[in-house]
Amino acid sequence: MLHYLTIPVTAFQQNCSLVWCDQTMEAAVIDPGGDLERIESAARRLGVSLKAIWLTHAHIDHAGGTGELAQRLHLPIIGPQEGDQFWIDGLPQQSAMFGFPPALAFTPTRWLHDGDQVSIGRETLDVRHCPGHTPGHVVFHAPQIKRCFVGDVLFAGSIGRTDFPQGNHQQLIDSITQRLWPMGDDTVFIPGHGPESTFGRERETNPFVGGT
Ligand SMILES: [Zn+2]
Repeated sequence: MLHYLTIPVTAFQQNCSLVWCDQTMEAAVIDPGGDLERIESAARRLGVSLKAIWLTHAHIDHAGGTGELAQRLHLPIIGPQEGDQFWIDGLPQQSAMFGFPPALAFTPTRWLHDGDQVSIGRETLDVRHCPGHTPGHVVFHAPQIKRCFVGDVLFAGSIGRTDFPQGNHQQLIDSITQRLWPMGDDTVFIPGHGPESTFGRERETNPFVGGT
C-alpha cells in the first residue's frame, strides 16, 4: 500500500510530501523545496529510505533543495517536464531573489511526459502534464489510494498563479478541467500550499473553476 506524509517547508510553507511503499519501505520525496533536515528526519522517524526525488515544477519553493539532496543521498531527480528547463536554470537567481539558501544547479535524471508512470517500491503513480502555472508542470496521481499531488495547479478554493513568464491562464483551466477532473470527484488532492480538498468539492465551490 502507498502512504504519504506532507511536510510544509520553506518560508512559503510549501507542501513537500514523502510517499512510500509499506512493503519495501522505500520512499520518494515530492518537491523538496528546502528545510532538508526536516524532510530527512521525518524519513528517519518513519523508517523509510529515500530513493528518488519527484518534481512537479521548478519554482524555488518546490525545487530549491533538490540539487543538494540529490547530491548528498545520490538520488535520481525525476521530472518535471522539459518546459521547466528555464526555471531550473534560474534557480540560483530565484534563491537570491526570495532570500532562500543558495540552490544548487541540477539536471533531471529523467524528464516526465503526459501518460508516464513513476514507481516507488511496489507502487506506481500516473503522471499527467498540467501546464499553465509553469509550462513543464506535472502532477502525480495515485489511483490506488485516490490521491493526487498537484503542486501549484489547484488549491482549495483557488488556482495557481499564471502571471509568471510562460504562465497561461487558459492552459491552466484546461489542465484542471481536462486532466484533473477525470480522476474523479472523490479524489483527494494535495496542493502545493494549504489544506487538502477533493476535486468534487472544487468543482462545486472553487470560484475559478466551479461549475466546470
Ligand atoms: Zn509554483
